[in-house]
Amino acid sequence: MDFAFVGGLLERNGESREDASWLRARFDDDLAHVIVLRGSRDVLIARPEPRLLRIPLPLLRDRFDAGRFTYLGEQDANTLFALSLRDDEHDEFLAIHQAVATELRAAAMNLPPHEAGLAAFASSLKYWQSRSRHCGVCGAHTLLSAGGHRALCSNASCGAAFFPRTDPCVIMLVHDGDRALLGRQPSWPEGRYSTLAGFVEPGETLEDAVRRETFEEAGIRVGDCTYIGSQPWPFPASLMLGFEAKALSDDIRIGAEMADVRWFTREELRNGSVKLSPRFSISRYLIDRWLEGAA
Ligand SMILES: [Zn+2]
Repeated sequence: MDFAFVGGLLERNGESREDASWLRARFDDDLAHVIVLRGSRDVLIARPEPRLLRIPLPLLRDRFDAGRFTYLGEQDANTLFALSLRDDEHDEFLAIHQAVATELRAAAMNLPPHEAGLAAFASSLKYWQSRSRHCGVCGAHTLLSAGGHRALCSNASCGAAFFPRTDPCVIMLVHDGDRALLGRQPSWPEGRYSTLAGFVEPGETLEDAVRRETFEEAGIRVGDCTYIGSQPWPFPASLMLGFEAKALSDDIRIGAEMADVRWFTREELRNGSVKLSPRFSISRYLIDRWLEGAA
């Protein structure tokens, strides 16, 4: 599928990265490269052609502690790490490496999809690390291990381990055959509409979540749901699970979280009067797919 954050051909080596000596060898590899972020939300981009900045690891090894590097994986026989810059580090770093820091959402529109996928992976990991500094069981400090993919409680009598989380979120193109059901959130610019979406709750199937969210946001009952595809959505750590769903009812009752929900014909969506989601999103993919009659 041709949208952002998808198609990152990366061998993550989930088992090998548990082995500290194996990781050390990856870190000692002079051909390894580093993707750099400012905090967890901005990625450093090289110019003039917008590409992720990849700095040879030997240039950074002496300047940053080894524990600051998160192992991402192997891509085209090239080891990749991620480094997050602190506030007091990034200005000098940007000047030395002639890079620009770009917010991830903007970067996603300009980078090739597989590069946006790498940036998303690094960003979500760094975000999780920044919020996993204390044990959720006993409150002691945590220590990162497994190349940055596990936070382990430093209190030996506790020893709880924490892993990066992904929040499942359903996103659905609900239609009645001739019309699609789109909504607008209060914070969005006037005229912008998108597919309905919402987080999956504990104990729910994905299909249950599609039906519940559609009813909560639009008062519409939904029957058959068909899974179409997924997209990591690193804002900060969601996985969008895209569905197409057939409406069983017609009368809209706008939910409390929505500014508006309406039915749109294909003609209305094609004539440019509605501002749709950006092309890098699965929402737009679901809409375009329906417009093309694949539904
Ligand atoms: Zn603990």
